Amino acid sequence: MDVAVRASAAASAAPAPSRTIATRRPRVGVVKLASCDGCQLTILDVEDHLLEIAERFDIVEFAEATSRRSSGPFDVLLVEGSISTPEQAVEIARLRAEARLLVVIGACATAGGIQALRTAAEHEAFRTAVYPVPAYVDSLATARPVADFVHVDAELRGCPIAPEQLIELLTSLSTGRRPQLPDQAVCLECKRRRIPCVVVARGLPCLGPVTRTGCGAICPAFGRGCYGCFGPREGANTAGLAQAFVTGAAASDGERGRDPVDVGRLFAGFTGATAPFRSVTDALGGRPTLPLRATLASPPETLREGPPTWGDRSAIDAPGTPGRTDPGPATSNEETHGPRR
Ligand code: SF4
Ligand code: SF4
Repeated sequence: MDVAVRASAAASAAPAPSRTIATRRPRVGVVKLASCDGCQLTILDVEDHLLEIAERFDIVEFAEATSRRSSGPFDVLLVEGSISTPEQAVEIARLRAEARLLVVIGACATAGGIQALRTAAEHEAFRTAVYPVPAYVDSLATARPVADFVHVDAELRGCPIAPEQLIELLTSLSTGRRPQLPDQAVCLECKRRRIPCVVVARGLPCLGPVTRTGCGAICPAFGRGCYGCFGPREGANTAGLAQAFVTGAAASDGERGRDPVDVGRLFAGFTGATAPFRSVTDALGGRPTLPLRATLASPPETLREGPPTWGDRSAIDAPGTPGRTDPGPATSNEETHGPRR
């Protein structure tokens, strides 16, 4: 079943909105897994609607916005980020059990995100190239979407998510109606906004024909091709578009076709781990070549004693330490204090 439909069904099964709001506001949580926090910042960016959201929902957990912490149960839980570590695979099962509706937000949570580039590559080579002490990094060999682990009720795509789609989803949840989330190609958005096509006008490659809209065609509006961050639209003919770039059929007059590896690389971006996009990169290439260059030959001096732990603050709290912190007593409005997500 389509996730938007599942959200609609779940919302319809909920108590009548007027009764719900009259008795108590739905408890909403916002949590993160492996992500850059950009989608959470988008929630804070909807300034004109924040008061309205706060009136309709009781936001009880949102580490990006407040130090007040709370555990479930949640009526709605917004989850940002992919499952990239063993701890996150356990954590998402716990969160699912605490949430009546679980909504995944952003390319990381819905498609694995940019970190899923390692999914089709040599995991150890990536770890060695990126981190000076790979042994301290307990990561999975894959970065996968949340839906690979638990049931998901709805999804908002994008890198980051679109504020309008977030408002639409929250509004639909609070009124018990079906969310209206588009499933058209970015090209339609270009036409509506009268943006010149960068493929036709400038001979640039663009993933707009195979990508779901929602961003407002922002990249073509700035004269760049679409990067596909909202992921493949339903029925996307990615093989056909890739072939058009390789043969030059999609180029403007006089342009030659493109190197197949460059075309494969186009599809290996924010949502490159989705099956329609990954099939192109699998066929044409475009992933990082091995061996990758190690960042450091040996651990830096400061890490020789081992990785820092959450429990041991003696080193940073020692008297006389510059920047020493005093957490002070817990305030009365703090509910529970778990590890910071
Ligand atoms: S989808 Fe993009 S903006 Fe959102 S958390 Fe992932 S990388 Fe950041
Ligand atoms: S610029 Fe890209 S998204 Fe816009 S019409 Fe052309 S191919 Fe489609």
